[in-house]
Amino acid sequence: MITTVKYGELKNYINGEFIEHQGEFASVVSPIDGNLIAKVPLSSTQQLDNAVLKAKEAFAQWREITIKDRAQIFYKFKTLLEQNINELAEIVRDENGKTLEEAIASILKGIEVTEFACSIPQLTNGEVLEVSRGVECKLIKRPLGVVASITPFNFPLMVPLWTIPNAILLGNCMILKPSERVPVASGKIAELLKQAGLPDGVFNIVHGGSDIVEAICDHPDIAALSFVGSTKIAKIVYKRATSNNKRALCLGGAKNHLVVLPDANPDMTANNVAASMAGNAGQRCMAASVMVAVGDVDHIIEKLCIESKKFIPGDNLGPVITQESKLRIENYITEAERSGAKILLDGRNTVVAGKEKGFYVGPTVIDYVTPDMSVAKEEIFGPVLSIIRVNTLDEAIELENNSSYGNGAAIFTQSGGLANYFAERASAGMIGINVGVPVPREPFSFGGWNDSKFGVGDITGKSSIEFWTQPKKITTKWNPESRTGWMS
Ligand code: NAD
Repeated sequence: MITTVKYGELKNYINGEFIEHQGEFASVVSPIDGNLIAKVPLSSTQQLDNAVLKAKEAFAQWREITIKDRAQIFYKFKTLLEQNINELAEIVRDENGKTLEEAIASILKGIEVTEFACSIPQLTNGEVLEVSRGVECKLIKRPLGVVASITPFNFPLMVPLWTIPNAILLGNCMILKPSERVPVASGKIAELLKQAGLPDGVFNIVHGGSDIVEAICDHPDIAALSFVGSTKIAKIVYKRATSNNKRALCLGGAKNHLVVLPDANPDMTANNVAASMAGNAGQRCMAASVMVAVGDVDHIIEKLCIESKKFIPGDNLGPVITQESKLRIENYITEAERSGAKILLDGRNTVVAGKEKGFYVGPTVIDYVTPDMSVAKEEIFGPVLSIIRVNTLDEAIELENNSSYGNGAAIFTQSGGLANYFAERASAGMIGINVGVPVPREPFSFGGWNDSKFGVGDITGKSSIEFWTQPKKITTKWNPESRTGWMS
């Protein structure tokens, strides 16, 4: 029997062309049904070198194009993303397992960042001041050169789009190294960028695993990199890249705490917390992982379980990325149960009819978790919520502050004063007040604190402009006769 692989053998994209890969490939399996959907090249470091060389050549011309003209390409790119959103969402669903609605929402966020990029010319008009009579100082922002973006499995299009429009529009040329588990969607980005008029060599894709990431960190002609992935690897990449004098911004994992006070609106809170925990199968760095129940909130926990049950595996709840992830997540639940926690809703051993080989975990709610348990401390990255009970808001804040991570944190209450008290004291980069997934909309930038981020600034928004450029200061004097103080 001849079976066709839906997306076939993928290719690297270098200098505007998809290049047939001669070396080894790895399998790409859809988490929905365990079927092989593509083969991804495991590139050699020579292939990376070639991509960097072409990007470096392209940079010489790309930097000469005015930022307003570069922006025109991204206006077209944004329209193309919108026109192709259904096809893009289907790819994201196939390789990552998101539902189509989730895939579309993630692409809309990518489109929003592209819109922000198109506004960058209005934000980078520089600064000028007459610093002494007849003497002017001017500051302009210039690109860094060839840069790299290394991305994780959980958002195959959105995370690459956090970096591609801003970095390229600001005049850099880019090498994208997508997650080898979800490498298909990036090829479509390359096609659409070319269709939008991006010159060859400005955007390139080199597929592969850790050896390509290491080679990116070491490459003398790559000036800067952004990384999004687990904390363990983010730390390694940050250290290696910065020890090679590269600029690096590395976003890591998370353990987000949602604090629920007794005065919280029960329906809205239950609905928000459940959606934050189970949406995208819990594979979001902004997902609710711990609910900190302050005082008596049993009536909200009851509703939370009802809301969580509305996430049906194989219907509005997608699979987790691999069989290993499924087993790892189930082990966390079993360990919590053995340690004395109470499983209110159990997602273990979930099998979806017709998709028996898919990697599904049902929504899981675990009550009476204590801070020493692994489910309370470690990133689980699945649709699992641990409830820790405390007596006061200060105890809740202390618990949140004790986490080594610091991506998102939220509070549910009707008291503005208590909400502000929490927002000031929570040790996280993105705070929600009655918002379960407090991802800032553009132009407010995305980025956490503590072990959720290594490097200065955020990955989107205005601070990304600083990351992807270097300031140049020009001092000018055209009137040689005048005395201009110490500048003369
Ligand atoms: P990962 O760290 O395993 O992989 C990320 C990238 O690093 C991939 O491109 C991969 O090929 C590469 N990589 C893997 N092992 C490596 C190694 N030993 N050396 C060098 N490179 C290596 O992450 P993942 O499993 O793909 O993604 C999930 C993680 O990403 C979660 O921890 C999640 O919280 C995090 N994440 C964080 C954010 C954020 O904004 N903070 C956003 C999305 C995902």
